[in-house]
Amino acid sequence: MQSQQIVVSGAGIAGLTAAIAFSDLGFRVRVYDRSPVLEEVGAGLQLSPNATRILDRLGVLDIVRPSAVQPEAVVLRDAATLNERARVPLGAAADQRWKAPYLVAHRADLQNALLRRARESALIEITLGATVIDAEVQPDGVAVSVEQAGFTSEVEGMLFVAADGVWSNSRHLVGPDGKSRFTGELAWRTTISSDSDIGRHFVALCSPTVVTTFLHSGFHLVAYPVRAGAAINLVAFTPGVAIAEQWSGTTDAGALRHAMAGTAPELLRIVDEAAPWTVWPLHTADASHPWTRDGSIALIGDAAHAMTPFAAQGAAMAIEDAWTLANAVAAASDRPKALAEWEAVRKQRVARVARRGALNHLAWHATGPVALARNMFLKLKSPNSLAADLDWLYGWMPPGWTDEERL
Ligand SMILES: Cc1cc2nc3c(=O)[nH]c(=O)nc-3n(C[C@H](O)[C@H](O)[C@H](O)COP(=O)(O)OP(=O)(O)OC[C@H]3O[C@@H](n4cnc5c(N)ncnc54)[C@H](O)[C@@H]3O)c2cc1C
Repeated sequence: MQSQQIVVSGAGIAGLTAAIAFSDLGFRVRVYDRSPVLEEVGAGLQLSPNATRILDRLGVLDIVRPSAVQPEAVVLRDAATLNERARVPLGAAADQRWKAPYLVAHRADLQNALLRRARESALIEITLGATVIDAEVQPDGVAVSVEQAGFTSEVEGMLFVAADGVWSNSRHLVGPDGKSRFTGELAWRTTISSDSDIGRHFVALCSPTVVTTFLHSGFHLVAYPVRAGAAINLVAFTPGVAIAEQWSGTTDAGALRHAMAGTAPELLRIVDEAAPWTVWPLHTADASHPWTRDGSIALIGDAAHAMTPFAAQGAAMAIEDAWTLANAVAAASDRPKALAEWEAVRKQRVARVARRGALNHLAWHATGPVALARNMFLKLKSPNSLAADLDWLYGWMPPGWTDEERL
């Protein structure tokens, strides 16, 4: 059994996608998550075509789709004047261009869809309330220590997949200094009902069927529909100090208001009336840190490369990692070599995505002459050419997929 068993730490997006991908290839998978219940934590997610084509192949897309929304476009607006600065067409145009849908969904809806699909597989066993505390490489696999209700047991497998998120306690198993780093920025999140006073105010301001990013010096706010359009997800980004390692409901929105000085009164009204806001300190993991060890341990998702969310790609990268890892392992005759190759290829892609996120951040928070240059640049770009700039990202296909295998 050990030779065909995969042990996964974490039942988030990365861990559950990996479990499904491995089980579809015939492996037994044991997934452990320290949470006793998988709570509705997190924010909305933009699910770009590079991720949805994999979710489709894994039989998850049809499950998540009823609660997701297919936005018509990504629209950039000035947060002070509310004027439109740029537009990237999505909807049917995304299907056509990148051969898979661009969707927005609540993270919990995607996690529930993955969970439902995973529970349909006889090869996957999920244990909640069980914390992975250690893993030891052995001559032909790995022994993983799991603590549950005060007892520690050992589970053997051919591979340990650490998908335990940005505050991974497994990162140190593959290299030195595995700590994540606070970026100096906070994400503020809330959800408003589309059918509330503030929801109607938002709809009067901008279309609820697009992803809108409001740009301002040192601040931006992203808004898009979730829960089949019944709610609007709002996420704002400001500088701030590190707080608890979780979404915290206790923070006063004063700092958010302060960062929004000079933005349109209509937006400030949303901030006031959409409370309570929860806050998430943005941490990143150094992606150049090793992700694999001896063909027996692999880090995926935020555990490997937590990035800022400014390219909206963290979950998408987790999904790509999970699919490519499972297929690399299934095809491997020499697992250490296959894992090293997988890591090298994935690192290049993840680094490019992180650079795109950094560029977005620079452009969206720009001030003075840089903001003027940005506005001029965006004015000269057609929606089509803005979409073409994203072909390398959204048009990505897993190794070995042919054009016919696109949706
Ligand atoms: C504000 C914000 C907006 C974002 N927007 C987007 C977006 O639009 N699109 C996108 O693609 N990405 C987005 N992201 C990124 C995305 O949310 C993450 O990259 C993604 O959720 C990471 O998934 P994961 O499975 O790697 O980690 P997680 O979702 O953190 O899951 C880790 C799991 O491991 C469990 N765990 C931890 N330690 C242990 C242990 N020792 N033993 C067992 N279990 C353990 C945890 O309980 C948890 O369930 C955003 C992030 C933020 C903060």
